[in-house]
Amino acid sequence: MITQETVDRIRHFEDSRFPVVSVYARVEVDPSRRNGFRTRLNGLLNEVRAKADDTSVDHDIRMSLRADMVRIEEAAGRERPDPGTVAFFSCAGRDFFEEVALPRPVRDGIFLDATPWIRPLVATLDEYHRTCAVLIDKSRVRVWEFHLDEMREIEKSRDPRLRKPHHRTAATLVESHVRNKADELSKRHYRRVAAMLDDLFRDGGFELLVVGGPAFEVPAFAACLSREVRSRIAGTFTVDMDSATPAEVREQVSAIVGRFDRAEERRLVDEAMEAAATGRPVALGLPAGLWAGSVAAARTLLVQEGEVAPGVVCDQDGWLALTGETCPFCGQAVRKTPDVIDELVAAVIAEGGSVNHVAADTRLNGQVTAAMLRFPLPAGPGMEQ
Ligand SMILES: [Zn+2]
Repeated sequence: MITQETVDRIRHFEDSRFPVVSVYARVEVDPSRRNGFRTRLNGLLNEVRAKADDTSVDHDIRMSLRADMVRIEEAAGRERPDPGTVAFFSCAGRDFFEEVALPRPVRDGIFLDATPWIRPLVATLDEYHRTCAVLIDKSRVRVWEFHLDEMREIEKSRDPRLRKPHHRTAATLVESHVRNKADELSKRHYRRVAAMLDDLFRDGGFELLVVGGPAFEVPAFAACLSREVRSRIAGTFTVDMDSATPAEVREQVSAIVGRFDRAEERRLVDEAMEAAATGRPVALGLPAGLWAGSVAAARTLLVQEGEVAPGVVCDQDGWLALTGETCPFCGQAVRKTPDVIDELVAAVIAEGGSVNHVAADTRLNGQVTAAMLRFPLPAGPGMEQ
């Protein structure tokens, strides 16, 4: 299970002379192929093995790497009941070890670096919004919480006043009266549920709402929601409450949230391109993005999902670039990193900015990154103005 706390703990790891092994390996959906996980992981660890055997590397660093391999192999031997990805972060020299299960597939990869490789974690967290799903009809309601592919039912009820209302009244009232009475009761039911959602959204940290139910009831219910809760609706779907299974609800909700995410990504990319076209401060492309990250200028960073780029970083003052031997700020030798985009993501988050990974096909494709800036970029090394 991946949580914000775990990601923060891994992100705050301070670098030392000992490298961190970060390794991600997919766990197959098909249980009969799960053994592939250990085989692939073992293959990935070859890179660490080679460095641990390299006599030109300091002895204590080699010892640390050996211990990392032992610990990762040990942890990898455990049963993996859920498909997705498992990530290990290990730096035995600093007595640091974390294991994180991600609910979705991430490309296999191993990184040996001074800091943990966290981009797939950040991308997973920003992709999963805490979502509330409501199934509703005239007299019943079911409410689920969705987060990181976990689904938990938090409310299931039937309004007691609404049980067969026509039995109580049919003998004495004309039919239209009965219908009016029933409408009044279902409205009361909708208002009660709307008040409950107000509380849930205020206290539960929900970002999105998905509503399912009979075609005529969903809009009637939506009309009873407060403006705040209504603005969180990511989508609605039609379903018969008597036959709906949790699996069907999950499928509908994840499709709606997925469409919502892709639309949000396209909106963010359009916003960045529009800002750039009208002269507002935006850094388009990786070189400009790295410079923006170096001077803490990035407010919102958009990253094309799956892109990796080697580069350099100065641990002294955070200078990031694709190439270079020494830092232009302090003159010290830079550290080479297998993925400088990962360093950029960590730097933007550390400066209080937000990061969005873009999986949708957008104009970001050719640019790799786009950063909305807090201020126009100063002229910098390698940046022609
Ligand atoms: Zn420096």
